[in-house]
Parts: sequence; C-alpha cells; structure tokens
Amino acid sequence: MLSRPPSSVIVVGSGIVGAATAYFLAERGIDVRLLDTSAPAAEATGAADGAVSVASKRPGPIMTAALKGVALYGKLADKGLFAGAFKRRSTFIVAISEEECAVLDAHSAALASAGVKVEILHGVALSRKSPALSPRARMAVEVHGEGHAIGYQIVHRLLSASGIVVDRNTSVEGLSLVNGGKRIGAVVTSRGELRADAVVIAAGNGSARLLGLGDVLTQRKGQLLVTERAPALNGSLPGAIMSGRYLLSKGSQKSTHTPPPRGLGLVIDPLVTGQFLIGGTREDSGSRETTDIDAVSRMLADAVDLVPGLSGVRLLRSFAGVRTAVADGLPIVGQIPGLENGFVATGFEGDGICLGPIAGKSLVQLMCGDEPDLRLSSFDPGRFADCGVAA
Ligand SMILES: Cc1cc2nc3c(=O)[nH]c(=O)nc-3n(C[C@H](O)[C@H](O)[C@H](O)COP(=O)(O)OP(=O)(O)OC[C@H]3O[C@@H](n4cnc5c(N)ncnc54)[C@H](O)[C@@H]3O)c2cc1C
Repeated sequence: MLSRPPSSVIVVGSGIVGAATAYFLAERGIDVRLLDTSAPAAEATGAADGAVSVASKRPGPIMTAALKGVALYGKLADKGLFAGAFKRRSTFIVAISEEECAVLDAHSAALASAGVKVEILHGVALSRKSPALSPRARMAVEVHGEGHAIGYQIVHRLLSASGIVVDRNTSVEGLSLVNGGKRIGAVVTSRGELRADAVVIAAGNGSARLLGLGDVLTQRKGQLLVTERAPALNGSLPGAIMSGRYLLSKGSQKSTHTPPPRGLGLVIDPLVTGQFLIGGTREDSGSRETTDIDAVSRMLADAVDLVPGLSGVRLLRSFAGVRTAVADGLPIVGQIPGLENGFVATGFEGDGICLGPIAGKSLVQLMCGDEPDLRLSSFDPGRFADCGVAA
C-alpha cells in the first residue's frame, strides 16, 4: 500500500471507470494523466444501455454496491455535475409467463430485503400505471428510485468538470517494475515512458493483457437498438420496462429451464429525447463492429410483444459493445497483488455505468488511506492468483 497519498497518478483507460477515478483524484488536487489507446468512452462505455439500477442485480455484494452507485448518481445530479444527464425513473420488471412470475416473486423479495423500495402490480393497477404495456403482462415489480444515464455523457461531464484532457491514441504496452518487482517505475506507452507516484489500470477488456488476466476476464458482446422519437408513447411509459427473462439472461435468478439462446433479455428504456433504447444480447463471442439480423429481429419482436405501440415506431440504428466479464461474476477493484503503487478497476460486465463512479471514488479513497464508500474486500484482485505484472 502507498505510505502516503500520491501526488501524481497515471490512469490507463478513459471509459467511465477511468474517467471517474481521474475525476475523484483531481478533486483532491492530485495531478492526473489519463491515457487511452483510442478516445474517451470509445469502448463499452460508449456502447452501453445506461441503466443506473439495482433492479437486475444479484443479491450480495453487487446489489449492495449498486445501491451505493445509484445513490451517488443522485448526489452528483443534485450537486450539478450530472444534472440533466441522470434521468430518475423506476424500473418495471414484467412477467408474462408463470415461470417469470416465480422468478419475480423471488427477486422482489431479495430486493426488498436489501432495502430497495419495490411494489408488486397486477391487473388494473398495472395497466393504470403503465397503459402502454401489453395485456399479456401478468405482473410487474416496480423498483423505485432508479435512473438512466448515457455513459459517454457522464464521461464528458467528469472530464470537463475536472479539466482533464485525455492523452488519446496512447496505448499502454506494459509496466516497467523496479524495487525487485514491487513497484511500478514507469508506464511503457506507444509514445514513450511515463512516470507517476501510482498507476491505475482501468482499461476494460485491455486490462486482461496488462495484468495477465486472460483466463479470468472474458469479453461479452451486447447488441442494442435505438428508435426514432415517439413522444406520446414515450410519455406513457413511466419507467424502463425489463422482461422477467432479462433476470435469467443475467443470471440474477436461477431458472428451471435452459436460458434463452445467446442470452437475449429485453430492456426498453424511454429516453429523455423521446426515443427508445432497446437491448440487449449477452454473447460470449463476436466483435463490436457487427450487429446481426437474427438478434435485431428477435429484440424487436420481444419489444413489440411487451409494448405493442412500438410496432408503429421506426428503428433508427443498431449497435454493439463488448463488456468485460470476470470468471466469478464480480468486478476487480483494489491494489494489484505485490505492487505497492499499482491499482486496478475492471471487470464491471453489464454494470459499469451504474458502478463506475462509485468504484472510481472508492478506489481513490483506498489509495489515499481513507475508508472506501464501497466495501472492496469482495472485489479484491488478490482473489485471482494470476493477477499481477511479470517483472
Ligand atoms: C451492450 C451493453 C449494454 C450495457 N448496459 C449497461 C447498463 O444498462 N448499465 C450499466 O451499468 N452498464 C451497462 N453496460 C456495461 C458498461 O458499459 C461497462 O461495464 C462499462 O462501460 C465499463 O467501463 P470501463 O471504463 O471499465 O471500460 P471501457 O468503457 O471498455 O473503457 C476502457 C478504456 O480503456 C482503453 N484501453 C484499453 N486497453 C488500453 C491500453 N492498453 N492502453 C490505453 N488504453 C486502453 C479503451 O480504449 C477504453 O476506452 C453495458 C455494456 C454493453 C456493451
């Protein structure tokens, strides 16, 4: 661990996690250099849905972290930093089959026991609350106090508020160790070596190569759709609509059946623009360069099934991003084993928009010797024997 708070830090990766870490470092007057092989929010952060949400989280450390993540968004919105970029709304998890009803019952109990305000809606109460929903909806759980944020807008807010200019097109190729391999002496980049008191690896999928985590981190592709503006329909949805099946695709609750092929789970988010964001797939292969007609048509069919009014709304575009998944399903946040000035924050899979700011804040607290807002023990990089940098 560092003997005193660092005066200078190099952060590798300007997705939401790196940008948040840089912001909270700069807030303490620490000199920050933020490097990216490409540009801010060029990877998962720029291709995400943006649910700032506890609704789909597994009970345990992720649910606890998400609660703190949502609370921090609220605070930063009230403070002005995220004002207008964080839309407060509920999430409605909707069941259309008996199996989904059973999953929802178990999940709403888990949410309630974690302190989340949930409400179970059936029949008339449900159609009154959300008139655009299909009559096939048998029940819904309204998860209160949630929100939505577009990842690249949040990165922009964090960087402009802290005055940090990202070193674009600067790829980190390795870390050069000193003191018998216990300390990072320099960060080796495509533009030469850089030095700082401490280094944070927040490189998403790029973290695997830098930290020898090839067997621990895997890439998980997701495809998303954006529609044209449809203000009347948008206004009749009081929050995001999430299919009960989404919980199964995300593994939040166990199903008695095999999960749907390619983990297709539906979320329909009414955006402030009047458009709808519809997602998404969870695929263990494929690149962010492509979307495919099979996924797109199945997402559209599922969306129209839950919200029939969407059949008259045109699709504007489809796009894909690649999440960074960890073998045990928990992110990796903390000190790199064996390195007194090396830290990592990666592996946020489908939760990094929600968790990015709170994870960045907590990592900075850890680096500066303060008690982190998040309990980081469950996310300790030391749980993976391979995590580290070869001297
Ligand atoms: C389809 C989809 C839907 C999603 N929906 C949601 C959602 O609804 N809610 C939610 O909370 N999360 C969601 N996520 C997850 C969220 O987007 C990610 O967890 C989050 O963006 C991860 O942020 P990051 O900063 O760790 O990684 P990234 O955004 O991937 O950023 C890593 C950065 O590091 C850079 N980099 C990599 N290697 C190097 C290197 N060697 N040198 C320098 N720079 C490097 C990259 O260029 C990149 O800019 C979704 C993701 C996808 C793909």
